[in-house]
Amino acid sequence: MKSHLKIESKQLNILFDSLKDRGYTIVGPTIREGSIVYDNIYSANELPIGWTDEQSAAVYKLKRRGDNSYFGYNLSPYSWKRFLFPPRVKLFSAVKKGKSFKINSDSKDASVPNYAFIGVRPCELQAIKIQDKVFNNGQYIDTVYKNRREKIFIVAVNCTQAGGTCFCVSMNSGPKAGNGFDIALTEVIDKDGHYFIGESGSGKGNELMSKIPHTVAGQSEIENANKLVQTTAKQMNKSMDTKDIKELLYANLESRHWDDVATRCLTCANCTMVCPTCFCTTVEDVTDLTGDNAERWKRWDSCFTMDFAKVFGGNFRSSSRARYRQWMTHKLASWIDQFGTSGCVGCGRCITWCPVGIDITEEIKRLKIED
Ligand code: SF4
Ligand code: SF4
Repeated sequence: MKSHLKIESKQLNILFDSLKDRGYTIVGPTIREGSIVYDNIYSANELPIGWTDEQSAAVYKLKRRGDNSYFGYNLSPYSWKRFLFPPRVKLFSAVKKGKSFKINSDSKDASVPNYAFIGVRPCELQAIKIQDKVFNNGQYIDTVYKNRREKIFIVAVNCTQAGGTCFCVSMNSGPKAGNGFDIALTEVIDKDGHYFIGESGSGKGNELMSKIPHTVAGQSEIENANKLVQTTAKQMNKSMDTKDIKELLYANLESRHWDDVATRCLTCANCTMVCPTCFCTTVEDVTDLTGDNAERWKRWDSCFTMDFAKVFGGNFRSSSRARYRQWMTHKLASWIDQFGTSGCVGCGRCITWCPVGIDITEEIKRLKIED
């Protein structure tokens, strides 16, 4: 049985210091411009202390909690893919030499820091595992992702409240982290004080946790932490019925349901930008004004953008009906054929950040009714 350690909240900065001493660049939740985002942080004081996020379809608001919780919110509009699979990467540059070009490979990504991610939610751990299958596990390895991924240290934080758009329970990805972390913490604020119950998930997690002042957690403290997570699961009021979901989507490619979604969807691509598993990219070439220096960049793209399906002779997905259907059918059906897993972890970001409040769980329910 894994041992659980009790770490007083005031010791959290020792975790930060220990990570910095080991050469990690820490990325964690912090408040910027009215939302909780993931960014470089240097101490626990930069965490969103005492703040929570209120989320529902097309709604995101920060609110005071009335306590000093460090991780009392749910999910950032950012996901960790921004650090493992950056929005823009230079692939190479070229310099004109006479009548030819000299190509310089810039794709080694050599200056990438060793990231320590603090506050990774269980559904986000599952999203990282899914991106591992896409980028780091098959015939084609994405070296930018691989270089970043193999160096990270993950401090997961179990969820002690359900967000308004979360449905991780039905996607079997939360609210408790199972594996894939170096350290997992559950934050507890009760009559006995403010503390974390911590467990390690790797040798380096074990080594680092032993350096933080702690006591061995008592049975009642472990039960208190477990109860918070169990209550979170019960609070979740959204779900997705995934039984035969692949067959449902494949059988409904011509459903009138897609016409209905198309009347609401703006094809803005927000859902794909915030989704922690979406991975579409495009490639752009740029030159300077002299024409002597050129660069090739890879950047995030989306199956919702007009040009994404533009090929010689036309656009094979020009309608919003076709684009929404492509996104949902890939995410929940053909992803399973490609990678052996759903492309959705139930984080609910696409629901919160869709400007017209399209809810993927409700769309599946409607598709079932119309089936
Ligand atoms: S579903 Fe919503 S977020 Fe996604 S493209 Fe349509 S309007 Fe934008
Ligand atoms: S499809 Fe929506 S709920 Fe599912 S992982 Fe992506 S953003 Fe989260």
